[in-house]
Amino acid sequence: MSTPPDPVAAARERAIAERAKRLREDGVDQYSLLDGEHERFDRDPWNPHPAPRDPVSEAVDVVILGAGISGMSCAVELSRLGVESYRIIDRAGDVGGTWYWNRYPGCRCDIESYIYMPYLEETGYIPTERYASAPEIFEHCQQVAEQFDLYPHALFATHVTGATWLDDQSRWEVATDRGDVIRARFVVAAGGLLFKAKLPAIEGIDDFEGAMFHTARWDYAVTGGGPGEPMTSLAGMRVGVVGTGATAVQVVPELAESGAEVYVFQRTPAAVGVRDNRPTDPEWAASLKPGWQEHRTRNFTESVTGVQPDEDLVQDGWTDLMWVNTARPGRNESEQAELDRIDFEAMEAIRQRVDDIVEDPELAERLKPWWSKHCKRITFNDEYLPTFNRHNVHLVDTDGAGVDLITANGPVVGEVEYALAVLVFASGFEVTTDYTRRLGFDPIGRDGVAMSERWSDGAHTLHGVLTAEFPNFTMVSIAQAAPGVNFAHFVGQVSRHIADMIAACLESGIVEIEPTVEAEDEWLHRLWAEAAAASSRRYAQACTPSYFNNEGQMTQLAARGVTWTGNTLPYADHLADWRAAGFPGTVLRRETEDTP
Ligand code: NDP
Repeated sequence: MSTPPDPVAAARERAIAERAKRLREDGVDQYSLLDGEHERFDRDPWNPHPAPRDPVSEAVDVVILGAGISGMSCAVELSRLGVESYRIIDRAGDVGGTWYWNRYPGCRCDIESYIYMPYLEETGYIPTERYASAPEIFEHCQQVAEQFDLYPHALFATHVTGATWLDDQSRWEVATDRGDVIRARFVVAAGGLLFKAKLPAIEGIDDFEGAMFHTARWDYAVTGGGPGEPMTSLAGMRVGVVGTGATAVQVVPELAESGAEVYVFQRTPAAVGVRDNRPTDPEWAASLKPGWQEHRTRNFTESVTGVQPDEDLVQDGWTDLMWVNTARPGRNESEQAELDRIDFEAMEAIRQRVDDIVEDPELAERLKPWWSKHCKRITFNDEYLPTFNRHNVHLVDTDGAGVDLITANGPVVGEVEYALAVLVFASGFEVTTDYTRRLGFDPIGRDGVAMSERWSDGAHTLHGVLTAEFPNFTMVSIAQAAPGVNFAHFVGQVSRHIADMIAACLESGIVEIEPTVEAEDEWLHRLWAEAAAASSRRYAQACTPSYFNNEGQMTQLAARGVTWTGNTLPYADHLADWRAAGFPGTVLRRETEDTP
């Protein structure tokens, strides 16, 4: 009698086979930047004709590049510390960053709003729903900017074209496409984490004759309606969506409601957990005690990183699924088997949910994710899967290959050409690509060295924040830092750190702070050693390609982009200790009588 197959081992085999289908030689180069001939995909639909203004020429203490949650938090913290001489620059026409740009139908926060939306206690605002809509988050950002008086400091619709270190003045000179020249002691590159939209470099993409746009620049002129309003122009039209990630699961149900014939082009099925969104309970809101937001935010971060605090305050799909960190190596065979079982059962529940919701069993099979829970970002949504029971929604499963050809009429998959009127790219954002490419300009540091040159093999930083040869240049970025699941928590912590460091330098007459190369190397080796001890190679070997693993390619650039093992909290504690110790591992230059 043969023994029945072990379902855990069988799922792992399947994951490895699915990964193999998706590994591609071109890795991150399979995507193209929204510049050159694709620049039209990047235009600002919300502020198409920025008002003319005179160029600004000034000297300030700090210039903050980016008015999203990172840049805003940095400005708020600086002004709390008494630093009022700062300038904020952003390409967008307003504050909000992600929440300025992303206005696609169905757009919502995928983290609980009570721990995602910044400064709720300071503004006295309680989100109306557990997972707030994008317009509500955007409005809240505007409210924060009003309350903390950020607007007078901001230059919007302004693109930074360069930043050069002036050694003789210990200052940066920042230039923009509006002719501004701003000299600043410190630069904060607060561009955020997911801000540079990307497009699959599909053959023939530019030949497509229908309307085409990226979700981060939704074209309501084509679809009708507006954020939070029904789309009125799509009834009867054939609309395609490329991608099935966190954005697509929110967009597809909305498109289905518009009466369009919707074609969803799938490369890798999303894992779709339970969302359970609901209005905020006013009694619960009234019961909150001062300090609640920080407490809840910390508790969530611990709950989704395997720390297992005494209680789980948020109790949602995230905390349920991520309570046990199954990506770490087991200490012995039986613990490894237990971790594998927990991971399998979590993903099996997600696959079972597809069977429970999608009526056609064959279709359900194609919508099931065969990857482990830490391999990609899990999505949570209650409308996406039921949408596939509708007659006007069609799944085009490419079985891991992706769309690789588009004609004047539309995408071709297998032998079939899908003629479409509208093609929407829910294809995500650059995460692990070259930093200066994402920054949009190439900072020039000490002795004329370009950052693209110094970073040609990947990131060189102390804490992911400072970099040698670029004194006083600070970054809120993923590489060599601790982004975690709740990005708002991470950017809030790093912004606070940067503001504290800058305020301390200004107060104590430090005009230059620059890490040593030795301190950078030590930091990197520490991150590598901790990652090697805490993450399982075996687990990673069965992970499908995504932006989590540099599309499955272990290049040197990706290796240097390592993140802190553990969560944002011990990382933030480490930064606080480092500040208290007087910035070890840096060279500090103090003000002298000659300092300009
Ligand atoms: P993702 O990078 O997660 O998804 C991109 C999708 O495009 C993937 O499904 C990918 O397939 C697919 N794709 C790429 N190329 C092709 C191709 N040639 N043919 C077919 N499909 C293709 O981007 P998202 O915008 O969905 O999400 C990015 C991140 O943004 C999320 O992980 C999340 O962090 C954040 N987000 C946050 C929200 C929030 O509320 N806080 C809401 C939405 C997004 P494959 O999976 O095979 O690579």
